[in-house]
Formats: sequence, structure tokens, C-alpha cells
Amino acid sequence: MSNDLLAVQKVRHPIKVRLLEVKRVTELTPAMRRITLTGEDLAGFHSGSFDDHLKLLVPERAGARPNMPTLGEQGLVFAEDGPRPAMRDYTPRRYDPLTNELDIDFVLHHDGPATDWATHAEPGHLIGIAGPRGSFIIPTAFDWHLLIGDETAIPAIGRRLEELPAAARAIVIIKTANEQARLDFASQCALDIRWVTEAATPAEGVGALEAAVRELVLPEGEGYVWAAGEYTDIKAVRQYLTTGLGVDKGRIRAASYWRRSQANSHEHFD
Ligand SMILES: Cc1cc2nc3c(=O)[nH]c(=O)nc-3n(C[C@H](O)[C@H](O)[C@H](O)COP(=O)(O)OP(=O)(O)OC[C@H]3O[C@@H](n4cnc5c(N)ncnc54)[C@H](O)[C@@H]3O)c2cc1C
Repeated sequence: MSNDLLAVQKVRHPIKVRLLEVKRVTELTPAMRRITLTGEDLAGFHSGSFDDHLKLLVPERAGARPNMPTLGEQGLVFAEDGPRPAMRDYTPRRYDPLTNELDIDFVLHHDGPATDWATHAEPGHLIGIAGPRGSFIIPTAFDWHLLIGDETAIPAIGRRLEELPAAARAIVIIKTANEQARLDFASQCALDIRWVTEAATPAEGVGALEAAVRELVLPEGEGYVWAAGEYTDIKAVRQYLTTGLGVDKGRIRAASYWRRSQANSHEHFD
């Protein structure tokens, strides 16, 4: 296969700040809520990759209006005279320009400003978003795609599985807190999905996610690995992928989507 077809691409987008309104709330599982947002500000929204993220600008409490920043030369500028909204990263799960809807799926089983807001969200509530400011585009032409993550990665993985063509092959490993947090994915690609729970941890010192990755035999051909979840899990998984399985670092996109005992943590291991 030509190397050009397999080259990843980084694309920058101008940052835009938008004030949006909750249109609908859908319970996907007991641990995940889909919040559908809409509003005039959503016009022209663009998200180029399943790996994209938005900055949510979370109001002080559900139902309140967030103090929206303006855009200055150095980025977002917040007014001095009001509470600054908490900012948290979330995946744009689905954007539909025809219905002017943006879905964001929230994991619910911890406390934090974004989770608390989503837990209490009702139609008419307001929230701000900024971005996505860039997209990391991973070609779909690879012979195989390995997608690894925990519940926070489910929105990105779900979006990726929907966009992979029928000719693609995906192996997916997802760790959830329990079986009730599992959901069905729509995909036309050949899909091998493996769900694990933390309680199934087989050996001391190796987390459930890493243990599942250690059971893999990678397919032949050119592949790409995308992994996102809790810092320690993803760090260990990436380490095993590179040293244990010999996957080229250029063929791995690994990110910490949250870190135990730390608020608002986002890190790339590339
Ligand atoms: C690029 C990117 C995309 C993301 N996409 C999504 C998404 O689509 N949906 C989604 O639900 N999350 C997503 N996340 C994860 C989300 O940003 C974090 O979970 C975030 O910390 C939640 O904010 P909070 O205000 O609820 O909690 P915070 O105030 O950030 O944290 C409060 C406490 O909760 C803990 N905590 C944070 N997240 C979790 C968790 N998942 N499970 C258990 N404890 C946790 C923290 O360690 C901290 O102790 C994404 C993260 C990144 C970096």
C-alpha cells in the first residue's frame, strides 16, 4: 500500500466560541448520558476526526448561563467580574448540520463540574463550547485498526466505527466499570470487540485493559493503534504495544483522557 495513503495528517481550525442549548437528553446506559445541543451559534461547526475534542465551558450550576469568554490574540479571554467556567475536554460524538444538532456523550460515575452539569442537564440549559481547534486524521486505509479505551473513549470509538468502511477491519478493546456500561456500536467494518471490566483483573500489577491487550495477536499487514483512557492504563498499554508487540511509535496515537485524583487532565504519550 502506498505510504501516502497511510500518512496521518494534522489539521488546524480557527477557534470559535459557541453558546449552545440542550435540546434533548438520552440515557444510553446507566453510566452514560447523551446530551444533544443546538443553537444559532452551532452553524458552521466542523469536526474532522473522531479523535477531536471540544473544550466545554461549564456554568457554575446546571441551568445557569456560563460566562462566555471572547477570543483574544492569546486565546480565550474571560471577564474579570464573573466566575470563570470550568473547562473540560469532550468528544464531538455526532454533528448534523441539517438538524443543527451536536451530540456529546458523558460518562457519569464520578463528581466533577462537567459530570455534575450533564447529570442535571435538561432541555433549555446552556453550555459553552470552544473548538475543536485541530484534527488528527488517521487514514481509514490501514489493513487493521486497533482501538483501545475505557468508557471516556466510547464516544470516539463509536464515531470511528461508524466511519470505517466495510473493507476495514477493527479490533476494539474497551474497559468499563461493569457490564451495564456496555453498548452496541453501528459499524459496517469487520469488527472484533472485546469488553473487559476492572473486576476481571487477572494478575497483580497488570490492569484489565493491559491484560486484554497482552492476549492479542496482531493481524498481518499495516495497522494503526488508537488508545485513550485513564493515564496509568494507557501509559502501560502503550509501553506494551511498543516493547512487547513491537508496534512502531508512529503507528500509535495514545492519550490520557483523565487521571485518577486529578481534575481536567489531558496528556498525549506521542
Ligand atoms: C480529548 C478528550 C476527549 C474526551 N472525551 C470524553 C467524552 O466524550 N465523554 C466523557 O465522558 N469523557 C471524555 N473525556 C474525559 C473527560 O474530559 C474527563 O473525565 C474529565 O475529567 C471530566 O470532567 P469532570 O468535570 O467531570 O471531572 P474533573 O473535575 O476533571 O475531575 C474530578 C475528579 O474525577 C476524576 N475523574 C475524571 N474523569 C473520571 C472518569 N471518567 N472516571 C472516574 N473518575 C474520573 C478525576 O480524577 C478527579 O479526581 C475526554 C477527555 C479528553 C482529554
